[in-house]
Amino acid sequence: MSTQKKRLLVVDDEREMADFVANVARRIGFDAAAAETASDFAREYTSGVDIIVLDLFMPEMDGIEIIRFLAENKSRAKLILMSGVDRSILTSAEKLAAESGLNVIAALGKPFRKSELQEALTNHAVATPRYAHKTRGSLDVAALEQAIAEKEFRLVFQPQVRLHDRSWCGVEALLRWQHSLHGPISPDYFIPLAEEFGLIDRITEYVFDEALSQCRRWADLGHFPEMSVNVSARTLQDLELPEKLERQVAEYGLRAHQITIEITETSVAHDLRTSLDILTRLRIKGFVLSIDDFGTGYSSMLQLVEAPFTELKVDRAFVGSMALDSNLRSVVSASIKLAHEIGMTAVAEGVEDEATWQALADLGCDTAQGYWIAKPMDGANILDWWEDWSAPSGNHQEATNEPPLASLAAG
Ligand code: C2E
Ligand code: MG
Ligand code: MG
Repeated sequence: MSTQKKRLLVVDDEREMADFVANVARRIGFDAAAAETASDFAREYTSGVDIIVLDLFMPEMDGIEIIRFLAENKSRAKLILMSGVDRSILTSAEKLAAESGLNVIAALGKPFRKSELQEALTNHAVATPRYAHKTRGSLDVAALEQAIAEKEFRLVFQPQVRLHDRSWCGVEALLRWQHSLHGPISPDYFIPLAEEFGLIDRITEYVFDEALSQCRRWADLGHFPEMSVNVSARTLQDLELPEKLERQVAEYGLRAHQITIEITETSVAHDLRTSLDILTRLRIKGFVLSIDDFGTGYSSMLQLVEAPFTELKVDRAFVGSMALDSNLRSVVSASIKLAHEIGMTAVAEGVEDEATWQALADLGCDTAQGYWIAKPMDGANILDWWEDWSAPSGNHQEATNEPPLASLAAG
């Protein structure tokens, strides 16, 4: 019997954490072992290990060295990375592992909930890498062009609701690429590629077209949610964009104020003056401008005062664990206050449980988005979700949700 069990190895110098992970894994049916030191790891590791849960910060041999070791040994084990220190280190480590040909199925910031670990472990059988990478296949300019031509892209929509009365106010459009060979590929991976290959404008055009036509369908049914669309500031170089979007919106019989443009990576804009020109004219035409992922990566205070943003989106790196971590809660609280003081709306993304929802409501945040409210889903399912969510004792979470990104390949 036990020989058929999947093997899991957790590597963490904190004994309690290692035991916790191993116990959760055993309950799911893994044959789990824990390593607290480099020599434990050397003793326990074999090429037969199916999953390695790896803490990045350890005194003797850190997680990055283990990643290098696994890459050199062409390990086929699936990796779950953990770190309690800094989300950006987790992100870099994840990218590094993927670039080294390893298969990372989850990256968990400590503290994480048991359910997150369980989800990562139970999804592993169907999981594809969170970051598909160049060495795995031919994800080059031709593949992207083909994807555009063969319509391998589609949009999913994630609801946004008001915290004070739970009412539905909008959706965020999120792009999905269902690759015929590699399965679902994360936008975090292919959007930068599309930018690099000069294909992003065609993709953005597609996204707006799909998003607006979905808005039109809802409008015909008497619903007028705001539609948020992601645009990387690096792509804000086309001076005619405001006019093009204005025309596109009018063609669908919609109004600009219904459309929110979420800007990411503001400070890496090639040409800040052009970006500012475009952003200001978008605002003049009535589009809502949102600064995405506030507090992480490239978005900063400077952009808040430089560009005419009207909405601030607090990044899920802060929101996700704010109910468990008072430092994170302080960051979220300060971001909300800052937004309000300069006349902006505050949106929290990454709301995964009721405690977080309640904490945000207590802090006076305006709107929220996250798995607890709904995962991204097909446009056709949104009205069913809304019916469930607004029912007095509605079971709002699962019915119409998109399956986890990683498991789309199986279905
Ligand atoms: P984003 O704009 O910050 O989008 C939110 C991301 O958080 C989405 O990931 C969404 O699925 C995920 N998310 C939502 N709620 C939760 C939650 O409760 N917990 C967790 N852990 N995650 C949650 P997704 O769809 O993988 O998109 C990743 C990023 O790719 C987006 O981040 C956005 O920057 C970019 N992106 C997506 N679609 C487009 C697009 O059409 N154009 C451009 N330029 N970028 C896009
Ligand atoms: Mg966004
Ligand atoms: Mg965001």
